[in-house]
Amino acid sequence: MTDEHHPDPGLATRLERVRADVSAAALTAGRQPDEITTIVVTKFHPASLVAQLAALGVHDIGENRHQEARAKAAELADLEVTWHFIGQLQGKKARQVRAYAGAIHSIDRPSLVDALASDESELDAFVQVNLTDDPGRGGVAPAELEALVEHVVSSPGLRLRGLMAVAPLGEPARPAFARVRGFSERIRRIAPDAGALSMGMSHDYSDAILEGATHLRIGTAITGNRPA
Ligand SMILES: *Cc1c(COP(=O)(O)O)cnc(C)c1O
Repeated sequence: MTDEHHPDPGLATRLERVRADVSAAALTAGRQPDEITTIVVTKFHPASLVAQLAALGVHDIGENRHQEARAKAAELADLEVTWHFIGQLQGKKARQVRAYAGAIHSIDRPSLVDALASDESELDAFVQVNLTDDPGRGGVAPAELEALVEHVVSSPGLRLRGLMAVAPLGEPARPAFARVRGFSERIRRIAPDAGALSMGMSHDYSDAILEGATHLRIGTAITGNRPA
């Protein structure tokens, strides 16, 4: 049995290794390691793993399924962590996600922006760009990016931070991340402060850092394999 008082030694080792790799890649890119936020993705893992991560100094947790995220956030309400929602989201669940999440990385359509808008509180927002031709992969098509960004910027309660992307399968990640950097330049004509880039996962975070990632979403490289 492991819990926050008896952490899994493998977890601490993997976390340290990733932190060292992130710092090394940042220095290679001529960047400061502290400009990069590592979000640890804990989907399918129990709340106890999140508690162990928090005890190891992790402050940013990523989840991609609302029911699961909501349950963990409720169980761990006294932990000082920010919950990042990174999965596809139904509009009717949007208000519920606002209740626990500090950031949403998967804004992909105008109706979701409308569902997330609020006069009561601010939520950090990332617009997800689809780097494939398959709409099922999530994210807005690049041709519709500016219109969606304008919609976010003109909606109350959403603080646009930047863009999110997942590297396509079956092609090198670095050129894909370079395309996202180009999209970022495009949207900053509309939203000059929205320069954040949420990109880079377990297998490609070093490439993402070289292309300017500010928010990494790393699961298995830190947590180990997800339970079936
Ligand atoms: C699961 C997931 C990740 C983390 O993936 P790993 O390969 O385990 O690092 C990152 N981003 C999104 C959107 C995910 O769903």
